[in-house]
Amino acid sequence: MSFSSQYQVITSPLGDGLHKDGKRLTPQRLKVLNLFENIGAGNHLSAEEVHAKLIKSSSKVSLATIYRTLRLLVQMGLLHELEISEGGHRYELLSNETADHHHLICIRCGRTEEFESDEVLKAGKVAAKVNGFTLIESSLNVRAICPNCI
Ligand SMILES: [Zn+2]
Ligand SMILES: [Zn+2]
Repeated sequence: MSFSSQYQVITSPLGDGLHKDGKRLTPQRLKVLNLFENIGAGNHLSAEEVHAKLIKSSSKVSLATIYRTLRLLVQMGLLHELEISEGGHRYELLSNETADHHHLICIRCGRTEEFESDEVLKAGKVAAKVNGFTLIESSLNVRAICPNCI
């Protein structure tokens, strides 16, 4: 975790229900966010899975709304979006503890495993420095096929 200090720190955006951009955390958005907080970091859900879980807890909400809400929470810096394959996305809670991990993703079933690599963080840091960029994050998504899908 020696490179974690370079990340922009996200400070409790839920405090007053308002984000720094002035976007409000409506009850609907809060519900989605709470779902991610309840399942904890390290879980990666698709929009369909989020939808199914909310329906189960008797929330009447359309899949289209879930898509919109997830996109917004990503923009607000509360969720992190992973691109699995064409059109396939998964979402996870963005927090300081999860900021510098990488993903091994099965392109067939979407199974996602996390791993850490100081080498990747170092490479990102060096590349940013060489080009005069201000680093925000270095994360690697490895697309692969899991043992169950071969
Ligand atoms: Zn992750
Ligand atoms: Zn698989």
